Amino acid sequence: MSKVVIIGGGPAGMIAAITAANKHEGIEVLLLEKNEKLGKKLFITGKGRCNITNVTDVPTLLANIVSNPKFLYSAFYSFDAYSSIDFFESNGLKTKIERGNRLFPVSDKSSDVIRVFEDALKKAKVKIKLNTEVISVSKNDNVFTINTKNGTYEADYVIIATGGVSYTQTGSTGDGYKIAKAFKHGLVQPEPGLIGLVTVENDSEALQGLALKNVTVKLEINDNVIYEELGEMLFTHFGLSGPIIISASSYFKGHSGLISVDLKPGLSEEKLDKRILSDFEKYANRDLINALDDLLPKNLIPYIIERTSIDPRIKIHQINKIQRQLLVQTIKALTFHIKRKYDMNQAIITQGGIPVKEINPNTMASKLVDGLYFVGEVIDVDGLTGGFNLQIAYSTGYLAGISIPTQEA
Ligand SMILES: Cc1cc2nc3c(=O)[nH]c(=O)nc-3n(C[C@H](O)[C@H](O)[C@H](O)COP(=O)(O)OP(=O)(O)OC[C@H]3O[C@@H](n4cnc5c(N)ncnc54)[C@H](O)[C@@H]3O)c2cc1C
Repeated sequence: MSKVVIIGGGPAGMIAAITAANKHEGIEVLLLEKNEKLGKKLFITGKGRCNITNVTDVPTLLANIVSNPKFLYSAFYSFDAYSSIDFFESNGLKTKIERGNRLFPVSDKSSDVIRVFEDALKKAKVKIKLNTEVISVSKNDNVFTINTKNGTYEADYVIIATGGVSYTQTGSTGDGYKIAKAFKHGLVQPEPGLIGLVTVENDSEALQGLALKNVTVKLEINDNVIYEELGEMLFTHFGLSGPIIISASSYFKGHSGLISVDLKPGLSEEKLDKRILSDFEKYANRDLINALDDLLPKNLIPYIIERTSIDPRIKIHQINKIQRQLLVQTIKALTFHIKRKYDMNQAIITQGGIPVKEINPNTMASKLVDGLYFVGEVIDVDGLTGGFNLQIAYSTGYLAGISIPTQEA
């Protein structure tokens, strides 16, 4: 009887275990998890609601992958977003689709998603050992030896599903990288992804906590626009965050970059100028600081005026065309210089990991070691927010699970 050991009880490891057990006769599947329970990171996903996946076709899934989308082609076609819905619904989870095709449990509880995995693991007769931290793995005479803090196991196949290296309190502490290194696997340096940005211009306390909706954010590196999106952003203590900044962060590499915020993306510079002129006619006798209330959020007005260096107490009828144009330009392109990303442990996703060139994309098998597989976030792949990262976990986990050769095969 073939023995498979899966290291890591996150979504990738759990799907791999369920698939291996269900799709192969005469196979023993053992799932090792170092925490006292399964799916600790899954529990905190989607602010505790778990954005299960994104209900869309494979090309759109691929378009939302930041690092190495081509590597995921087979995995996504083997197990796409509709397969995910099938898996959860057929195991009794009621789901609903929200804005941007995001799938959630109707109950809004990630614990219900974890329960589906637990039930499916039980049904598939997967053996589970909790509180079992894998320290090292070695291979001799076609047999893997898995050393844990409480015992040693043997296996014909090993699937590494240890996740990335952020939110370490959930158990993802980069152990998979060390295990893989012992087998001469390389490592694409882990970097924080989907995270806030620390900016040089974070000096305005008044802006902290201010959320802006329907603004366009552009990320520029060396004068090239790397990312551009319309949506919501947030001013924080250290810089910028919120959905579109978080997405932009995954494209930020290196040490310097510029975020440019268009506060009025629906208006061209010309139209914005006309709009300001009409506001100025209405408030001709006011100071500038009191004349922009119809156009901008109150907290933002002093900050914008400060950026233009125009005296906030200037009377509207005294403002000249050049000053007005400066105002228009600042509103259309409010710029922030990026110092760095927030710290790794706050990252929603780890970028980097086991290099994709060392893994067979059609099976998730290591190209260096027979019988070794990698699934989920431990691999150098990552997606944007919207359920894409969990879909990576299920698709790669499923593909490894079905690809394990059984003795009968
Ligand atoms: C705050 C937050 C919110 C998120 N929200 C979403 C969302 O709504 N939708 C979405 O698609 N993605 C979301 N993500 C990303 C998503 O959670 C991850 O991409 C996903 O959990 C990765 O799955 P995984 O199984 O590869 O790794 P993980 O979920 O990290 O699981 C790895 C498991 O391996 C175990 N392990 C590690 N080392 C060892 C060892 N040595 N021995 C034994 N076990 C070990 C860990 O304890 C852990 O349980 C979110 C992430 C965060 C941090």
